[in-house]
Amino acid sequence: MNRVESIKTKLLQKYPKAVSELKFRNRFELLVSVVLSAQCTDKRVNIITPNLFAKFPSPEQMAKADYDEVKNLISSCNLFQNKAKYLINLSKQLIEKFDGQIPMDSKQLQTLSGVGQKTANVVLIEADGANLMAVDTHVFRVSHRLGLSRAKSPTATEKDLTTLFQSNLGELHQAMVLFGRYHCKATNPQCETCILENECRWREEENSLFKG
Ligand code: SF4
Repeated sequence: MNRVESIKTKLLQKYPKAVSELKFRNRFELLVSVVLSAQCTDKRVNIITPNLFAKFPSPEQMAKADYDEVKNLISSCNLFQNKAKYLINLSKQLIEKFDGQIPMDSKQLQTLSGVGQKTANVVLIEADGANLMAVDTHVFRVSHRLGLSRAKSPTATEKDLTTLFQSNLGELHQAMVLFGRYHCKATNPQCETCILENECRWREEENSLFKG
């Protein structure tokens, strides 16, 4: 088994059927939660969304929302002013262009306010089990430490990971998010108990420096 296959197998074994930690009950809530999660933790988003969804449970209601009210409801989230605009605008666009439904197509999703490639892919992975990679801060860090990519941008990293792994991309995205969030953390990664220690380029470099 080569290194990439070994990483893939171990991640899928460690995190079988991993799903997002965002809490949502339908595709609209999923889309809103993913938009809110940009540069914000899932934990924070899950604190914000119950009140937001109680007040604005559908695109129809969110489209008519008062900007200041949405802004206040999400004010503990990073970039809340922009995100309040995005949520109202994307709800209007969903009604005007998609009959109030969430399109299950990456290009169509990306026509919505506040939705880029990563957000679109996360929505499609969660809602549809799509074979797509999405690169957030955790996936970016983990893939670079493991030596799977040297790309400077998330989009280019996504391309590298897609080419290397080819299948199970959605599951691997979820697995790498959880692995990065709880194990291969930005500071103090838990290398001593890591399932990928033998495959890790970063660890290899650390060890060779230590040996002198
Ligand atoms: S060995 Fe350390 S740096 Fe490498 S993947 Fe594991 S936790 Fe991350």
